[in-house]
Amino acid sequence: MKDNNCIFCKIANGEIPSSTVYEDEDFRVILDLGPATKGHALILPKEHFKDVCELDEKTAAKILPLGAKIGTAMKQSLGCVGFNLVQNNGEAAGQTVFHFHMHVIPRYEGGPTIVSWTPEKEDPEVLAETAAKIKSAL
Ligand code: 5GP
Ligand code: ZN
Repeated sequence: MKDNNCIFCKIANGEIPSSTVYEDEDFRVILDLGPATKGHALILPKEHFKDVCELDEKTAAKILPLGAKIGTAMKQSLGCVGFNLVQNNGEAAGQTVFHFHMHVIPRYEGGPTIVSWTPEKEDPEVLAETAAKIKSAL
């Protein structure tokens, strides 16, 4: 299903031009207009899924292998030495376009810090309580 009001549906299905690096029956991989580093790409399913929770299993199963393929090609072609696969779900998590996408961000020697957080200390009892809460909802 496509969403007529969704810009990534239009890009993924070729209605709006993009710098495409890969395309198959299910996906288009494009360069991000506001790249974190040179070559920053987005894996877009051609079908509209709002976020990872809406993805069907068949599509979901193809995304990590495709991320690995694109990341490997980036290492060979752009000279990056690693890459991040990043995927945001919900506004609080930084999602700004509500059509599922996976970022593939090339990482270069001496490049900027992109995905990071400051680890906090946590009480083992709190860890156990938190784990129990999540478990109870599965
Ligand atoms: P999010 O924050 O939702 O995880 O990521 C959305 C990404 O899409 C951002 O990195 C943003 O630069 C990129 N983006 C937004 N609109 C467009 C567009 O029209 N074309 C392309 N190529 N990238 C876009
Ligand atoms: Zn869409």
